[in-house]
Amino acid sequence: RALFKIPRNPPPTLQQPELWSSEFNDFINKCLTKDYEKRPTVSSLLQHDFIKQIEGKENVLQRILPATLALNAVMFSNGKWKSSSGRPCRSMFLFFLHQNTVTEQLQKGYAKDQIYTYVGDILIAVNPFRNVDIYSSQHSKLYIGAKRTANPPHIFAVADIGYQSMVTYNSDQCIVISGESGAGKTQSAHLLVQQLTVLGKANNRTLQEKILQVNNLVEAFGNAGTIINDNSSRFGKYLEMKFTCGGTVVGAQISEYLLEKSRVVHQAVGEKNFHIFYYIYAGLAEKKKLAHYKLPEYRPPRYLQNDHFRIVQDFMNNSFYKSQFELIEQCFKVIGFTLEELGSVYSVLAAILNVGNIEFSAVVSEHMIDKSNISNPVALENCASLLCIQADELQEALTSHCVVTRGETIIRPNTVEKATDVRDAMAKALYGRLFSWIVNRINTLLKPDKHLSGNDDGLNIGILDIFGFENFKKNSFEQLCINIANEQIQFYFNQHVFAWEQNEYLYEGVDARVIEYEDNRPLLDMFLQKPMGLLSLLDEESRFPQATDQTLVEKFEDNLKSKYFWRPKRVDLTFGIYHYAGKVLYNASGFLAKNRDTLPADIVLLLRSSENNLIRQLVTHPLTKTGIATVVVFLSSFSSLDADHCWYSLMDLLSKMVVGQPHFVRCIKPNNDRQANKFDKEKVLVQLRYTGILETARIRRQGYSHRILFANFIKRYYLICYKTNDDPPVSPETCAAILEKAHLDNWVLGKTKVFLKYYHVEQLNLMRKETV
Ligand code: ADP
Ligand code: MG
Repeated sequence: RALFKIPRNPPPTLQQPELWSSEFNDFINKCLTKDYEKRPTVSSLLQHDFIKQIEGKENVLQRILPATLALNAVMFSNGKWKSSSGRPCRSMFLFFLHQNTVTEQLQKGYAKDQIYTYVGDILIAVNPFRNVDIYSSQHSKLYIGAKRTANPPHIFAVADIGYQSMVTYNSDQCIVISGESGAGKTQSAHLLVQQLTVLGKANNRTLQEKILQVNNLVEAFGNAGTIINDNSSRFGKYLEMKFTCGGTVVGAQISEYLLEKSRVVHQAVGEKNFHIFYYIYAGLAEKKKLAHYKLPEYRPPRYLQNDHFRIVQDFMNNSFYKSQFELIEQCFKVIGFTLEELGSVYSVLAAILNVGNIEFSAVVSEHMIDKSNISNPVALENCASLLCIQADELQEALTSHCVVTRGETIIRPNTVEKATDVRDAMAKALYGRLFSWIVNRINTLLKPDKHLSGNDDGLNIGILDIFGFENFKKNSFEQLCINIANEQIQFYFNQHVFAWEQNEYLYEGVDARVIEYEDNRPLLDMFLQKPMGLLSLLDEESRFPQATDQTLVEKFEDNLKSKYFWRPKRVDLTFGIYHYAGKVLYNASGFLAKNRDTLPADIVLLLRSSENNLIRQLVTHPLTKTGIATVVVFLSSFSSLDADHCWYSLMDLLSKMVVGQPHFVRCIKPNNDRQANKFDKEKVLVQLRYTGILETARIRRQGYSHRILFANFIKRYYLICYKTNDDPPVSPETCAAILEKAHLDNWVLGKTKVFLKYYHVEQLNLMRKETV
């Protein structure tokens, strides 16, 4: 600061980078070529003509020198210019300047319990980690149809904007919620659903209640306590609320992705299994029904044993779990599940816990040393009885497998290790399928009623709540899947915010300054391309019985000719990927097993013979997932889900979202300790950096976030300029007349559309309200 005489407070110009002189922008562009190697050093930068030329000019210095300093700090290392995330430096740079201001704004707000902030038209939500009194029904009313600046920023305002845009422009909307684990995504999704049901004035109270229960129900099955979040969503969720064209809510649909099934059979230290297991334990104990569901009353089932619970009483007497059980049972009933279905769901859950208790011991005999035997037949009996199958057949399916060689079927025994794998695979598969079944059932029960929605196809608002980018000390298959999903979301984000916007400008003949952004398409291709993409290779290797995780990594290395992939050492299982949000090192240990995720044919056949209707349904046909489902792979030998479908399913989802207008909510975690009133500035900065949210805000401010067809525009706003009975022609002139009457400037007329900034729309809506 002393060197460059930089003032303590950033000059106002820094808050509006677009106001910088074009001269300055040109200079930056020259200095920052995309080729890192060719970038100048700091000293050569200071020698630059431009710098020399402006020396001593106080006002310009104020603009440029903090910027230079920022550049030095962020991107100068080892004598070269670098951007730590691989983003183009110019945006990184603009961003760096901007971010301090934004962080300060967030911090100030946070200190005053204002957890929401707008950056452009994006809502940033800082998790307060305590109850803030801003969600009452009065608050809810305050945000209905209000001008954005009339009230403090709020998640309800996002619901309102989405809803009003849907009704006004007769178009689908989607709200993308992002943020790292524990940042408040799921909470935000709840609040959106809550406000949207108010806005959608369900004329039928039961429907409103049903919709409000959906989240609670799926979260009991899909959420779990982790080190980071006591109620962490272990699946991705896309909830669509269905409306009539008039804006009345008529139903809902939900899609799930990437449920972390491995959690059923194993949890890391300090983590728990899915909530529902603890709930049913406490609930069934209360109802004296543990014996009925063959759940042990003294020792916790193995799948629930961890450092939290050493004795079963810990969760049997837990009053929170008991009340949650009541709540979930209520959810099931409100949504419309039958008692019979409910009983079957409990049986499957209890069966899964009993599956986990089955233990094997090695049988040593003269001929076959590798045989295994079930050492606790009670667990086997329990399990078989809950699944309504024959115990001896289950035993057979666990301890042996069929091999077909030259047309002959031979039965081979399983080793203890193999039998254990089959057992766990069975538990995971049952749970995964149960979860999908519940989601499907909800969708059937909440499908819009034809005569309620009338003849129109209706409109919808989708809410995407999906885990953020993950980068831990040790990253495995699950992290890879999650990060690929995020890569896809980022692609959508880019497409929407940058690419399409640009295309539309071009098409409409509107001057588009070239928008620079980092396209992550090449990286997505590296993952998804066939036959040489990473997922194809993984799938191919999974089919070889002799393959190992080592051969897999080697296959990656030999075939992925991409600058986004690297292997630090020749010998181990580590490989690295340069994601948009930074580089991540993965350990391929367990990749093949997790990807195969096979349920042996014997088990499938056996379950198909079950006398329980639900269990047969779980295995008979792969559940037709309504809408779009599971993102990545999980190809199992018996699954008939077509590979293409699986892989690109998230892309499908995204393309579906694309037709709607997006709204973005970015959740920020202010500290790692889940503490109220603690704002860790560094931590917040890092999160802002990952998402490029400031860049986006800049583009959206510069760009025209609303693009409305002439006819729609006139239909909605003509009263600002004309009389009720007037019928002005659909023409650009009419639009211009309205806009001029509203005293707005900076709008543009394209060939077919009016291009408006978000604040124009607010102003117009306000004026329109005054006229009607
Ligand atoms: P994510 O889904 O991003 O992992 P959650 O939505 O589960 O995060 O939020 C984690 C926790 O943070 C919640 O259980 C809750 O305690 C707290 N929290 C999040 N948002 C809010 C909010 N708006 N008000 C109060 N507490 C919140
Ligand atoms: Mg969540």
